Amino acid sequence: MKTENRLLYINGEWVESVGKEVFETNNPANGEIIAKVQRGKEEDIDAAVKAARNAFESNEWQSFPPIDRGRILYKIAEELRKNAEEIAMLETLDTGKPLTQGRKDVEAAALYFEYYAGMADKIFGETIPVQPGILDYTLREPIGVTAHIVPWNYPLQILSRSVSAAIATGNTVVAKPAEDTPLTALKLAELIDKSGLPKGVFNLVTGYGSEAGAALSNHRDVDHITFTGSVQTGSAVMMGAAKNVKPVTLELGGKSPNIVFEDCDQTEAVDWVVRSIVQNAGQTCSAGSRLLIQDSIKQEFLQKVVEKMKAISIGKGVDDPDLGPILNEKQYTRVLEFMEVAENEGAKFLTGGKRERRDGLENGFFFQPTVIDNLNPKSYVAQEEIFAPVVAAFSFETEEQAIELANGTDYGLVTGIWTKDSARAHRVANKIRAGQVFINNYGAGGGVQMPFGGYKKSGFGREKGLEALRNYTILKNVALKY
Ligand code: NAD
Repeated sequence: MKTENRLLYINGEWVESVGKEVFETNNPANGEIIAKVQRGKEEDIDAAVKAARNAFESNEWQSFPPIDRGRILYKIAEELRKNAEEIAMLETLDTGKPLTQGRKDVEAAALYFEYYAGMADKIFGETIPVQPGILDYTLREPIGVTAHIVPWNYPLQILSRSVSAAIATGNTVVAKPAEDTPLTALKLAELIDKSGLPKGVFNLVTGYGSEAGAALSNHRDVDHITFTGSVQTGSAVMMGAAKNVKPVTLELGGKSPNIVFEDCDQTEAVDWVVRSIVQNAGQTCSAGSRLLIQDSIKQEFLQKVVEKMKAISIGKGVDDPDLGPILNEKQYTRVLEFMEVAENEGAKFLTGGKRERRDGLENGFFFQPTVIDNLNPKSYVAQEEIFAPVVAAFSFETEEQAIELANGTDYGLVTGIWTKDSARAHRVANKIRAGQVFINNYGAGGGVQMPFGGYKKSGFGREKGLEALRNYTILKNVALKY
């Protein structure tokens, strides 16, 4: 692929960063440089926030008919689909993910724009009975300039899910993609540029987290911050926002369990348990990284999981295997450290645990699908997010033990329950402390309509579905005496 020097998108113009510095983005499958992008810093974030503020306050945007906001979002969805193959390839090259996953990501992005397009003219307040002679009503107004700090695992999907909701509700946007994977965000900016959206409503600054990211999350003139990524960075973003008393929506990952009861459909359950940890090389916030199996079927079930994990094809994303590489050396080193700690904690590796070294894969950080047994559920590896195709198995005897284990981490993003007993499924679902519970499935196909977010350290606020509209609107109460 041609190495290009891509620019920042501020106030409807493609511009160089003030410092005129660039950095490289690499293909995780072979380490090759794919493109150079601008290293945006504080001055660039300042310019983008100013553009977003001016656009927000402009007559043009304030009087822009909501239905026309929706029409533009539909157009962006359409353009994403028209360019789907090119964008999917770009995502695959930049993140390392299998092409099939890249294609799914583009379709999910288009669905977000489509879903929120339909909502643009359906956001309204209520009338509230107070007393005779008073007409009381609420207005649900856009919150203003919204910041979107995006991680590297699903760059296009995650950017699209919050930006589409923010624009549908009449806000303006400053987006900062992850430094490792900025290319599909730049492509999205290209499509938005041609969509008819007024200048300054959408702005994009590429750069490092410690520079552009920190400048954005500490900016006094940003009205709301949406962040997806690690707990540590999420906490830093929240501190920046706290200084300026700005609301945040945080989605911070998890240690999500699949709970497998002895009466489940084992074929289905094995299939989904494996998919839930192999998807995107386990670099998914909602990855099924813990496997809780009822004692009576543990050995039999685990054996089937191991067989399936061994059959996973590993390769470069462009060749569309089941499993692509880990993002970069930093992430890979982190995974290796986890494996070392697991060994020290007494783990038994039923399969995997090592780098996959094969001809043609030498220059990418490919990691074998891994199943670990014998860990203490309170151990470090059983508690922390690894972000790799590594699942840790545990067992339980009773429903109560299963619930205790499932809830026994600091996270609470997703839980899968596998059983044919629907009463039990509901009993367990009620006691689970996680933002999404799936019964006899895992993910329900991605579902842009389903509210998504965490309990505990998995974050707060909800993305997706109608719930996300709350992030981007602020409520005003008006009382009129007549
Ligand atoms: P990160 O949280 O540091 O990065 C996420 C985003 O935040 C990126 O755009 C980054 O540039 C930005 N950022 C970094 N420092 C910032 C700061 N001080 N202020 C504002 N923005 C900042 O994630 P990482 O270091 O790339 O990954 C580390 C771990 O985080 C992973 O191993 C995984 O466990 C977790 N993670 C979770 C998700 C998720 O979807 N929940 C996504 C990525 C990473």
